[in-house]
Amino acid sequence: PRNPVRRGRFAPSPTGPLHPGSLLAAFGSWLLARHAGGEWWIRVEDLDPPREQPGAIERQLRTLQAFGFESDGPILYQSARDAAYRDALGRLLASGAAFECWCSRADLADNGGLHHACVTGPQAGRTPAVRLRVPQGQVVAFDDAIQGRVTQDVGREVGDVVLRRADGFWAYQLAVVVDDAAQGITDVVRGADLLDSTPRQILLQRALGLPTPDYAHLPLIVDADGRKLSKSMDAAPIDDAAAPLPALRWAWRALGQDPAALEACTDVAGTLAAALAGFSPSRVPSESVAMHNTGVAIAP
Ligand code: GLU
Repeated sequence: PRNPVRRGRFAPSPTGPLHPGSLLAAFGSWLLARHAGGEWWIRVEDLDPPREQPGAIERQLRTLQAFGFESDGPILYQSARDAAYRDALGRLLASGAAFECWCSRADLADNGGLHHACVTGPQAGRTPAVRLRVPQGQVVAFDDAIQGRVTQDVGREVGDVVLRRADGFWAYQLAVVVDDAAQGITDVVRGADLLDSTPRQILLQRALGLPTPDYAHLPLIVDADGRKLSKSMDAAPIDDAAAPLPALRWAWRALGQDPAALEACTDVAGTLAAALAGFSPSRVPSESVAMHNTGVAIAP
């Protein structure tokens, strides 16, 4: 029986095949959710059509299925969530927490791209972006289950957060906050590349009167030179659905777990059952994991 009080999720963007970082996020979020007796849901973050690859959604879902990861709830597609985002944005505009902004990238270049106050007024015929107002001195702190205490001066380091882009697309930051709340997600487990997005998501939750879930940010996968691998162009796809076991074993080791626990397993179901039985959350490392240290080569 599942613990209805805990619910985790995996929320890939369909910009390409699953890569090592996404497998780590899928397996890590699944293990932490199941270890707590909770549910695990899949959400498709198809918010940015220009960056999406045709067929990537189906391919990712097929891979997840081959790896034994099945959503406990209906799969939510962000491309179908316009009304919910519009509603949230309307509330933020009405309360004054958000504002329309005509500043261009070039306008903000002198300030490192950060927005603290508009340098351009309304411009006829141009759709404004909408931003969350982040006052100077706005500091957010939270306790991450893997990374420990995280503190960010959001006012200084981030500035006013884009919620709807000037091209009309919804920003990830707004969509993720609205959907985590709408789906009743209690545990957000994802790659550490999103660690510095979390404080602004917490600010947005507060502005919308939404609960803040618990956070756990998994180690980044880096290459032999220590460069981030998870989202780079040369990240090896890890979606060989015909051979899921080497990939699962690789991800298990990258999560700091004892390789011996999976040694005797010969199929996916057995591997996931053994993984769940042997999973030790406190062994998950906070530092980056180098792909070459894992002892498993993943064919590109
Ligand atoms: N869709 C995001 C990505 O693929 C992850 C969002 C999240 O887990 O909050 O990087």
